[in-house]
Amino acid sequence: MIPNKKVKILATLGPAIKTQDDIRQLVEAGVNLFRLNFSHGEHADHAQRYDWVRAVEQQLNTPIGILMDLQGPKLRVGRFAEGKVMLERGQTLRLDLDSTPGDAQRVNLPHPEIIEALQPGMSLLLDDGRLRLQVTSKQSDAVITEVIAGGELSDRKGVNVPEAVLQLSPLTDKDRRDLAFGLELGVDWVALSFVQRPQDIIEARELIGDKAFLMAKIEKPSAVIHLEEIARLCDAIMVARGDLGVEVPAENVPRIQKDIIRTCRQLGKPVVVATQMLESMRFSPAPTRAEVTDVANAVAEGSDAVMLSAETASGDYPLEAVQMMSKIIRQVESGPDFQAQLDVGRPQADATASDAISCAIRRISSILPVAALVNYTESGASSLRTSRERPTAAILSLTPNLNTARRLTVAWGIYSVVNERLHKVEEVTSTALEIAQAQGMAQRGDTLVITAGEPFGQPGSTNSLRIETLH
Ligand code: PGA
Ligand code: MN
Repeated sequence: MIPNKKVKILATLGPAIKTQDDIRQLVEAGVNLFRLNFSHGEHADHAQRYDWVRAVEQQLNTPIGILMDLQGPKLRVGRFAEGKVMLERGQTLRLDLDSTPGDAQRVNLPHPEIIEALQPGMSLLLDDGRLRLQVTSKQSDAVITEVIAGGELSDRKGVNVPEAVLQLSPLTDKDRRDLAFGLELGVDWVALSFVQRPQDIIEARELIGDKAFLMAKIEKPSAVIHLEEIARLCDAIMVARGDLGVEVPAENVPRIQKDIIRTCRQLGKPVVVATQMLESMRFSPAPTRAEVTDVANAVAEGSDAVMLSAETASGDYPLEAVQMMSKIIRQVESGPDFQAQLDVGRPQADATASDAISCAIRRISSILPVAALVNYTESGASSLRTSRERPTAAILSLTPNLNTARRLTVAWGIYSVVNERLHKVEEVTSTALEIAQAQGMAQRGDTLVITAGEPFGQPGSTNSLRIETLH
């Protein structure tokens, strides 16, 4: 598969994706990794989708990442008898601990600690802040609210209570069960929701070990405050704008997004910008101009990946959404000032041979017409350092580890090929030339820059750089 964009697409799977072939079409349209959202669906649904992705990976012979997204201590309403209700401004809605399906007068809020913490006058924001309720009175097992901003409310939509202080663990019992299930399946990435403190990452890492990489979702004000430490401790960051824009004033989100992207790039941690990117495409085959601009800005700011949520999981136009996202990415990347803008935000190099080589590669690829930067990597660490430089040429990462290839799918500009374990720089050179040609990334006469590290298999040992021409 010839890489035709640097920025990656993370697409959420859900009921709108019904067959293995649907997944193949999404990959061909530009999806690099998929999200299994454990806030919705049964284990059997996730297992089915997991199997489809792995089958498509074989069919297309290209590594595809799978991220399991843990619900975390997200508050949600229960279900409705009709699946959804319409709430009118000024009406009363009762939120209680009764798990029977709700209607327009009452619904389950299955969190006793929240009912406990709510006081008259406090606001509840529902469905990413689209609906707003205000508590008018309290009973022992329920709160009575007035609908301040109404609209349609469907099963299991999220609830945020910005004014209440909630003592919640980052991993609920459900998360622990889901995590065990997902790791058993073999997911490549685990996303942790509602991270508040660096300690949350340490606890999750203890449970996950080296079975998967860890992505921290930044959606709480306290995670924004501790961003740098959280980013250091995890493997990637998601700017989870849905909940973030409810937990902090929405107008603060663009600045926070920029800060997060800058911090992640400095640390060399991939960063995903998520939520509502092409929201209107859930029901429309074309996005709004503002949405197109939002995706374009995330690309221009230097994100590694952009995410689709309901657009692909439950929308009417999943394939069109991915195609549109790919088109926007390619358009921005081919603009005259794209690379120049990324160069302005270039991070400081660490005083290591690996960073010195990564800087050199970036310079070389702006001087010579380099077809591909080929990296031999076992852990993926050296490819990530190269990606951090945001070089002009595509990064072709050769690795003996399928897990590494799958994990690198989230990172800017990196495309991986799994091949046998190599032991000498000469082997890397000949293999690189062969594979770059076979992948259609280079033709006769093209220049390749090849890097590797001796001793082989030791992360961070990159110490050689070769410039080769394909004969
Ligand atoms: P969610 O996370 O879709 O799991 O809520 C993303 C976000 O909050 O933006
Ligand atoms: Mn969220």
